[in-house]
Amino acid sequence: MSNVAYVALGSNLGDRDAALSRARKALSEINGVRILRATEIEETEPIGSVRQGKFLNQMVAISTELSPRALLAALHRIERAAGRVRTVRWGPRTLDMDIVLIEGVEVSDDALTVPHPELPNRDFWLRQLDELRGVSDG
Ligand code: AMP
Repeated sequence: MSNVAYVALGSNLGDRDAALSRARKALSEINGVRILRATEIEETEPIGSVRQGKFLNQMVAISTELSPRALLAALHRIERAAGRVRTVRWGPRTLDMDIVLIEGVEVSDDALTVPHPELPNRDFWLRQLDELRGVSDG
């Protein structure tokens, strides 16, 4: 069985465009994952009090045969391969990948919450999600 999931990509360290591009490639190479659509890349201000550079963000819609936890584990492997080291919470990162939403699926445990709890607070995620789901402003 496959689900449609929305994954947010973000980078604010090093070659940010290249990081997003490698992330899309790595996603498409996961067994059981197919990229359906991707938004334009947009630049956003960092969130929180840590001084750091702006982020490039993009959201992709994928079809996935993986369980939500297996998808999260795969995203963590891709983040690690991109050289991400977890230092400061909300701090700069080469690559950040979040599961924003999975159609028809809710998860709430210690390691994973879907829909992502930050979704209502991030206007650009809401916009990108609408775009990928084909919702227009009316
Ligand atoms: P972050 O620092 O944004 O990469 O998030 C750190 C942790 O948030 C991850 O190790 C996940 O276990 C947890 N997490 C909870 N819900 C989600 C989600 N929907 N997408 C990604 N990570 C999540």
